[in-house]
Amino acid sequence: MDAAITPPPAAVEIVALTKRYAAGTPPAVDQIDLRIASGSYCCLLGPSGCGKSTTLRMVAGHESVTSGDVLLDNRNITHLPAAARGTAMMFQSFALFPHLSALDNVAFSLKMKGVSKVERHQRAGNLLERVAMGHLADRKPGELSGGQQQRVALARALITEPRVLLLDEPLSALDPFLRIQMRAELRRWQKELGLTFVHVTHSQEEAMALADTMVVMNHGLIEQVGSPHTVYNHPASEFVARFMGGHNVLDTAEGTIAVRNDHTKISSASPGTAGGLPAEITDIEYQGTYVLIGLRLTGVAPERSGVSVLLSEKAFAAEPLSLGAHVQLSWSPEDARRLGPGATRPGAPPAPTPRQEPLAALAAMAS
Ligand code: ADP
Ligand code: MG
Repeated sequence: MDAAITPPPAAVEIVALTKRYAAGTPPAVDQIDLRIASGSYCCLLGPSGCGKSTTLRMVAGHESVTSGDVLLDNRNITHLPAAARGTAMMFQSFALFPHLSALDNVAFSLKMKGVSKVERHQRAGNLLERVAMGHLADRKPGELSGGQQQRVALARALITEPRVLLLDEPLSALDPFLRIQMRAELRRWQKELGLTFVHVTHSQEEAMALADTMVVMNHGLIEQVGSPHTVYNHPASEFVARFMGGHNVLDTAEGTIAVRNDHTKISSASPGTAGGLPAEITDIEYQGTYVLIGLRLTGVAPERSGVSVLLSEKAFAAEPLSLGAHVQLSWSPEDARRLGPGATRPGAPPAPTPRQEPLAALAAMAS
């Protein structure tokens, strides 16, 4: 076979994976297929309740599978116990034992396996050295910073020598400043260790910052798989465009399209101007580098009329806009993305009602 067309080895392969928690209810995960490349950082992204954690737990072996398969390095692990899979899990807020030292936290699973104290302390000590925490091995979690706790949690997950590290919203309980620091560290450790990371998050910003591959989920289905650049620049469906934020979803004669709000142009309305969509300015939000202009399209149903334009501070200063002003929106044809119907199956629940303002929708979904 031509090496150039051989796909990279899949660390994790999910085949027609389904989870139905109770008979007669819609599946939480609905026949999804996914290949996660070995050594990559994969983020499962989507609104609360879309099936991210269920998927991750089925890979981890913490949740039974209704149907379908999970393979790790081409080995079918669907029915193996969690400890025999070659995966390890890192939980929200790191879930360290507060009464144990960093060393004993890391050594804990070896203790459960009956490994001698000398050996488990040696192995835990080596791992703590590897994450630059050797000098703090005797400290309890409460005596460590958030970043140091994350490294202890990482060492604890790595002690079982997993092939794949599974992370379920590991950063979501942290304050925003720490969250951004910690995600940079996670990314750095993933590259340094060369392991496959599968990270669940409801934050598109976090997924874009971390992922080699983003998997956007909705109602137990996969809407789109791709690099952050691909997903952001070529959203496959209206759901993806709205969930990612920063896009205007517009109904045109050719169909429904998405245009990035920094690619949407705004000009003063002069009667008779052709080619623009008339809109009224409803909101002006100063964001530092940018100014976000909220608008309502004229003559469009309220639930589809909310759009926004992101202007550089400089562009805004050059031609200030005021609340209530009537303007025209336009875009270059090459910036318009035709949207597909999405992944909805016949009989599946409808996609959530689109909100008027993409950013507000994002905040609501993330809450
Ligand atoms: P996410 O992690 O994307 O927020 P989950 O995988 O936790 O979503 O949940 C997907 C769906 O399955 C939701 O409708 C949720 O209510 C349901 N669900 C999750 N866990 C259970 C459970 N243990 N029993 C019954 N339903 C569950
Ligand atoms: Mg979850």
